[in-house]
Amino acid sequence: MPTTIVELRCAPLDVPLIEPFAIATGAQAVAQNVLVELQLADGTCGYGEAAPFPAVTGETQAGTLAALAQLRAYVVGRDAQQWRAIAAELSAVAPEAAAARCALEMALLDALTKRSGLPLRVFFGGAESELETDMTITAGSVAHAAASARAIAARGIRTIKLKIGGDPLIDVERVAAVHAAVPDAPLILDGNCGYDADSALDLLAALRARNIPIALFEQPVARHDLDGLARVTRAGGVLVAADESVSDAGDALRVVERRAAHVVNIKLMKSGIVEALAIAAICRAAGLELMIGGMVETLLAMNVSAHLAAGLGGFRFVDLDTPLFMADQPFSGGWRQQGGRLALGHVQAGHGVTPRAPLPADAAL
Ligand SMILES: [Mg+2]
Repeated sequence: MPTTIVELRCAPLDVPLIEPFAIATGAQAVAQNVLVELQLADGTCGYGEAAPFPAVTGETQAGTLAALAQLRAYVVGRDAQQWRAIAAELSAVAPEAAAARCALEMALLDALTKRSGLPLRVFFGGAESELETDMTITAGSVAHAAASARAIAARGIRTIKLKIGGDPLIDVERVAAVHAAVPDAPLILDGNCGYDADSALDLLAALRARNIPIALFEQPVARHDLDGLARVTRAGGVLVAADESVSDAGDALRVVERRAAHVVNIKLMKSGIVEALAIAAICRAAGLELMIGGMVETLLAMNVSAHLAAGLGGFRFVDLDTPLFMADQPFSGGWRQQGGRLALGHVQAGHGVTPRAPLPADAAL
């Protein structure tokens, strides 16, 4: 079969960051990701990326490389047209290695759609061809938040996302400083599990008292604290998103059943692609809004997420900004970015992103 997968190669993808990506639970100064190359029998190559973020999922680059070596036997020799069946097997064999599984799904669908002459966003549904991303201010001081807000506005990016979840008194001042610096910017707050429901509600009350509007509050409380998340959703007076609380379709169902959030942040690295489609379907059926986000990903993985969100359409919040934190761009192609606008309409086939340098000769698994 021309679509038989004949080779799988992978290599560490270390990309230094312009500033450490600091969140409530830890920081990353270098994105320690993994690049995957998959080849079909007709010679078509597809590319995928794993972005393990130890502070969020506990996955590491070494663990991801080991998982890919283990999963090779379930991929090589298979027909790429069976992508759902292959993804289901990978999930069953390596449920904890979401980033590794995701990289394989990305590379497989890139190869398959390239061969078919189909842009990945069309494969996912073709609903839209553009998105508008926010940009993140990482955890840090009040002065850092204000300066970062001005820098984001100067780039022409409208929506600002602020990492909070540290000392609530300092966080209130950081949010106020961002609002003062760029008063018209819609503000997304991301607690990354750093608060409990009481402190999250206190923070929102303090911001309300200062007349600072909040567009969205992501994951104020711990991952498994759905009661706390539901309390903030009911009483907070702002839209609340589940992020760390939702890694698969079962998690999404529990959020729906408990009415624990208004929005779910889908990240391919948490779930893989096939599972992300299931999460999106559940949210849509339940009337929850969708957000697309990511870990600390290069242009490669972020473009795949953009194709998925644009293809499905209707994602209300878009957080695909981590390539802007990278000192080095080891890829070419992909979206065309102007300010926060990400245009995909020119991509002819696949996700459109290719490595600038070939994988090292010893990259075979
Ligand atoms: Mg988040």
